[in-house]
Amino acid sequence: MLENTSATVVLKKGRAKSVKNYHPWVYSGAIDRVEGEYQPGDIVRVVSYDGQFQAKGFINPKSQIFLRLLTFRDEPIDAAFFERRIHQAFRQRLRLLPDHTNAFRVVNSDADRLSGLIVDYYNGVVVVQINSRGMDRLRPVLVSALQRIIEPTGILERSESPSRKDEGLSPQKGLLWGEVPDRHPIEENCIKFWVDLKEGQKTGFFLDQRDNRQRIGRLASRHKRLLNLFSYSGGFSVYAALAGIPTISVDISEPALELARENFRLNGLNPDEHQFIVANVFEFLRQTEERYDFVVLDPPAFIKKKRHIAQGTRGYKDINLMAIKKMDSGGVLLSCSCSHYLDWGLFQKVLFAAAQDAERQVQIIGRFGHALDHPVSIFHPEGEYLKAFLVQVMEPLE
Ligand code: SAH
Repeated sequence: MLENTSATVVLKKGRAKSVKNYHPWVYSGAIDRVEGEYQPGDIVRVVSYDGQFQAKGFINPKSQIFLRLLTFRDEPIDAAFFERRIHQAFRQRLRLLPDHTNAFRVVNSDADRLSGLIVDYYNGVVVVQINSRGMDRLRPVLVSALQRIIEPTGILERSESPSRKDEGLSPQKGLLWGEVPDRHPIEENCIKFWVDLKEGQKTGFFLDQRDNRQRIGRLASRHKRLLNLFSYSGGFSVYAALAGIPTISVDISEPALELARENFRLNGLNPDEHQFIVANVFEFLRQTEERYDFVVLDPPAFIKKKRHIAQGTRGYKDINLMAIKKMDSGGVLLSCSCSHYLDWGLFQKVLFAAAQDAERQVQIIGRFGHALDHPVSIFHPEGEYLKAFLVQVMEPLE
């Protein structure tokens, strides 16, 4: 029995609106009272002030997000419920996946109505990231569902996101089932990559950028060389190198660049014909005396909390300004942000301010988001984070 049938959450008068809009999160301010005994992470019933059934979901009084709703129907929540949801998500991904690609996101948390659960598939191996109290208690249920649905050779947990703290959870990492190698090869759009499953960042690879990497690969041959800033394991660089141009990958992490070299080799490329620079990108851009005609700028999230918006926005402005100043006339820049709080409008203002300070004409030629296996629920816009502007940086204005 996964549900706590003795506890009921009663919403405040007039506070059922977000629930009626199918929003999966209910903040503590909307809660009138909880009737009955419960533990954090229990699955409970939610009713409006006048006692009408609204939803069922995880309760966690330790979190600002008091309730994470799983269903708006009065249906049983058991192991089969989670299995159905995961199965549906998996089936849908298989329909959307590009050819010659065996690494993708299977479950994208609230977008798949599985609040706090991320499941990534890497060529036979499943990596799970759990970010909610409720999901944290369901590990055995999730593992057996994933075994049955995906039939992987191993399941690894990489629950190291700082957001776990907000749920009263500490980091968790380790093998959940089967066997998982340290380093594992995957294929993406016909291109091979090593994924460092156990020590790599996030769950090992930035799957969300798959379509943008392909876009850069397609544009590469008509450029002189690629400057890939915040390159991680060289994703964008390998695409461009396979299109025949020299690349420069810059990242602060030495192991990431070691892996980048291996990724070049894995695709029959000679890493010695390319540059791998271990550096802070801010320093690198300050010091470089060269000009670049093709640049990818994919920094880590500078804004993780709402209160960091002002400071983080300055970071984005600075790094974009520095990059734009180093670009040739007619150069192409893919400028990315993975901060949810930097929305499209604010991001465009950042680029406006950077262009203005650099005194360069900047033309927007594309706006891109996550790859297709990273859906965002229409009822949960908070799930959107990755934004990329493709721009042309033209001649100086004065
Ligand atoms: N573009 C990559 C993902 C980038 S993730 C891909 O497609 O796979 C962000 C990267 O920025 C990480 O590899 C991290 O090591 C690096 N990083 C963080 N701060 C940095 C800094 N100040 N200078 C250089 N690299 C940094």
